[in-house]
Amino acid sequence: MQKLDIETDAANAGETSLTDQLLENNRKWVRDGSPIETHGVFGDEHPVAPKLLWIGCSGSNAPPHAMVGLQPGDLFIHRNLANLAPVHDLSFQSALEYALVTLHVRHVVVVGHYGCAAVKQAMDESCGKLTRHWLATLRELALMEKAELSGFASESERLDRLCELSVLHQARCIAEARLVRDFRKKGENLTLHGWIYSKRTGLLTELGPC
Ligand SMILES: [Zn+2]
Repeated sequence: MQKLDIETDAANAGETSLTDQLLENNRKWVRDGSPIETHGVFGDEHPVAPKLLWIGCSGSNAPPHAMVGLQPGDLFIHRNLANLAPVHDLSFQSALEYALVTLHVRHVVVVGHYGCAAVKQAMDESCGKLTRHWLATLRELALMEKAELSGFASESERLDRLCELSVLHQARCIAEARLVRDFRKKGENLTLHGWIYSKRTGLLTELGPC
């Protein structure tokens, strides 16, 4: 499986244990079933101090905090159609800025999911005009990766691989965003991750960092 090729500072090495722990929590969640969550939902008993920016798909119905064994306030979540990270989207860029500058979040995770209907829609000419415009980068990505994608026998395998490639692509877009480059120039630590979720198994798989 292709891994995300993004440099991470040596100082970040210890920090990755947070995401390792979340992936371990996810395996436990799958093994033991979803716990019933009541703590921290109401009142101030669990102040909002997110550890991680989670960029997910609007169409994914899995509850992010429960999947990784956290409370709702532990994640700062941005969702859009097909979990994209567009450089010119004010909603996404302001969420990213808010997470880094105001909330001091130091882990950003793009979380795709296999069988994403929105990624599939990108190839469908019958979808709405705005949807088609929003998903244009996925068509470009599919074109760029045509050689690899054509090696898969079935449409569902091609779709799943495109979902993975998109996660890696979005993480690279974030790494190259001016906001993130400026942030790193100031010596701030930031780790980018690419994960993908399987609705069939409940498991999150790490695609990067390498
Ligand atoms: Zn989706």
